[in-house]
Amino acid sequence: MARKPFIAGNWKMNMTVASGTKLIADLKPLVKEAKCDVCLCVPAILIPAMVKAAKGSKIKIGAENLHWAASGAYTGEISAEMLKDYGVKYVIIGHSERRQYFGENNDTVNMRTLTALKNELTPIVCIGETLTERTNGETENVLTRQLEFGLHGVEDVKQIVIAYEPVWAIGTGQTATDEQAQETIKFIRKKLSKMFGVKEANRVRILYGGSMNAGNCKGLMAQPDIDGGLIGGASLKLDFAKIVNYEK
Ligand code: PEP
Repeated sequence: MARKPFIAGNWKMNMTVASGTKLIADLKPLVKEAKCDVCLCVPAILIPAMVKAAKGSKIKIGAENLHWAASGAYTGEISAEMLKDYGVKYVIIGHSERRQYFGENNDTVNMRTLTALKNELTPIVCIGETLTERTNGETENVLTRQLEFGLHGVEDVKQIVIAYEPVWAIGTGQTATDEQAQETIKFIRKKLSKMFGVKEANRVRILYGGSMNAGNCKGLMAQPDIDGGLIGGASLKLDFAKIVNYEK
C-alpha cells in the first residue's frame, strides 16, 4: 500500500491566538486541494483556538509534546487525555530541542511514544544526529539507538510517524542534500525492517526535517523513502502552503 505523504508544521514557541488564527485563515484556501495529510503542531495553550481556526479545513492540529502519565503531580506537563479533549490527532515526541534543552532521552521518548499509541494519538517521533556525530561517522549508531530504545515495546509500528531531523540542519538553513536525506532515511527503513519486518517497515511514514522550505521541498519529496516533511520556520508563514502543494 502506498504511503500517503504527510506535511507537518512545528510552530515551536511561536505565535499567539491572533497571529496563529490569521495564519490558519490565510492558509486554509491555499491548502484546500492538498493531496497529502497536513498538520500544524502548535504550543499547547494555542490548541483550542487553533482547532477552532482550522475547523472544516485540511489542516489538523497537533501538539508538540505529551506526558506519559494519565494525570498527577507533573507541573507544566500535558496529558494525552487533555489533547484528545480537543480532537488532537498528532503529537511530536522527542524533538531535538526537547532532547537538548529539557533532558529528553530515548527512555522518555519511549514512554511518551507508548502513551500516545495507547491513546490513539499518532506520535511523530523525532530522531537525528548532531554534526559532531555525523563527522565522527556515528550517524547510523546514533539512529539505531534512538530507534531501538525509543520504539521499544511498540506493537504496531505503522501507527507511528518518524521524523528524521539531522540536528545540524534544524533552523540553520543548512538542509541535508536530497541524497543525504534519502540515504539516511533508507537506512532508517532498513533498521525498522530488522526490528518489525519488511512489510511493516514499508508502511511507516518517514519525514525529513531540517530547514525544509518552499525551494527545496520538491527535490526532497521526490526521494523514494521520504514521505513528507516536518517543517519549523517555514510553517510560520504562507510558504507552508507551497510545501503542502509541493507537487504543483
Ligand atoms: C523543526 O523544528 O523540526 C525543524 C525542522 O525546524 P526548521 O524547519 O526551522 O529547520
